[in-house]
Amino acid sequence: MELRDQEISIVGAGIGGLAASVALAQKGARVKVYEQAVALGEVGAGLQISANGVAVLEALGLREAAAQLANTPEAIVLRDYRGGEVSRLKMGATAEARYGRPYWQFHRADLLRILEEGARSAGVELVFDHQLSGLSSNEAGVLMEFEDREAILTPSLIGADGVRSKVRTLAFKGQAATFTGQVAWRGLVPAERLPQGLFENAAQVFMGKGRHLVVYPLRGGTLINFVAVEERADWAEEGWNIPDSSENLRAAFKGFAPAVQTLLSAVDETFLWGLFNHPPLPRWADGRIALLGDSCHPMLPFLAQGAVMGLEDAYVLAQNLSVASTFSEGFESYEKARKSRATRVQNGAARNAWSYHLRNPAFRGAAHKVLSLVPSGALLRQFDWLYGHDVTKRG
Ligand SMILES: Cc1cc2nc3c(=O)[nH]c(=O)nc-3n(C[C@H](O)[C@H](O)[C@H](O)COP(=O)(O)OP(=O)(O)OC[C@H]3O[C@@H](n4cnc5c(N)ncnc54)[C@H](O)[C@@H]3O)c2cc1C
Repeated sequence: MELRDQEISIVGAGIGGLAASVALAQKGARVKVYEQAVALGEVGAGLQISANGVAVLEALGLREAAAQLANTPEAIVLRDYRGGEVSRLKMGATAEARYGRPYWQFHRADLLRILEEGARSAGVELVFDHQLSGLSSNEAGVLMEFEDREAILTPSLIGADGVRSKVRTLAFKGQAATFTGQVAWRGLVPAERLPQGLFENAAQVFMGKGRHLVVYPLRGGTLINFVAVEERADWAEEGWNIPDSSENLRAAFKGFAPAVQTLLSAVDETFLWGLFNHPPLPRWADGRIALLGDSCHPMLPFLAQGAVMGLEDAYVLAQNLSVASTFSEGFESYEKARKSRATRVQNGAARNAWSYHLRNPAFRGAAHKVLSLVPSGALLRQFDWLYGHDVTKRG
């Protein structure tokens, strides 16, 4: 289908929705993105973007802008909760040489800004303060209803509205999500509040009984990002921005390494996420409607791939639409091209939680010992299928 002048609506201006808008607009489509927020906000969180995601940024012409704001970690270091090093996976130049592109870390707001600028310069129209509340399809197209706004008819619709997707709920059947028994705190601490050199330029994972904490620097080391995961029986709401007391966080990680205690003592503001398992959706595409990113394959954060998969989806979706004869055909071939990979990543992320949280101290000690004997090169090779995949080079 010649995409030039085709009208496409996207709901959700997150990483996936914005990337799709750029990819489609660069192929000539007239793209509008409807976002419920009044502007793209500063959600305080870091995102790791591996080489397979950088490939998409590069193909969209955004690599240079992204490089200005990215942090490139030298290593991924796994540590016992007390701080002892278990294993060290060399990243930096080693990962870049292996995969042809760097492994980067961003403040989420920085990556959103790069994509927003890319979208605006490709001619995308961003429509804020529009919360999708209803959908119905007829021969003319899809009628989108918005809270306190006029309804809009669109020839095609892409749902990129995240983990609690309204488009998924309204247009696709799926099984209910189940609480994993894990919650995650996320936050940022200005480095000036911490002793100099407290954390090296690496993604470090401190692994303890039923909990782990990931920490890495951002914005040239001026901010320290953390994600702290704890197993618990009680339920927490899924989604963004649930404020929680930093006292709860400190209590959960009492007994962890001194560097972790120092970091957490400087936390004023933190947000809590409930982590949920979502069984793979039977379908991601139906006629004039398709889903991408977290709206169709939400995943646990333990492979750091949710946003990266949204980038891959966005590129493949635009590619498939541009060679199809109808929206329906293009959306179906996109689903076919992406489903097995996204499902594999979803399953891989779920398995990692278990290995970080080994409860039995003897078993944990033995597992860490085995891990410490694996050479860095062999550890990195395990990720070839993930980081070495380049959607921009596939037919
Ligand atoms: C603790 C944690 C750590 C993570 N770390 C990483 C990492 O290191 N690397 C990585 O790749 N991923 C990571 N992720 C996952 C990543 O954050 C998500 O996968 C990614 O943000 C999903 O992008 P998206 O565009 O699909 O959805 P979102 O970013 O959630 O965007 C959805 C957008 O849709 C809008 N919206 C929602 N409903 C409506 C509506 N009804 N009408 C209009 N607009 C609507 C929202 O306001 C939002 O702007 C992590 C996740 C967590 C929880």
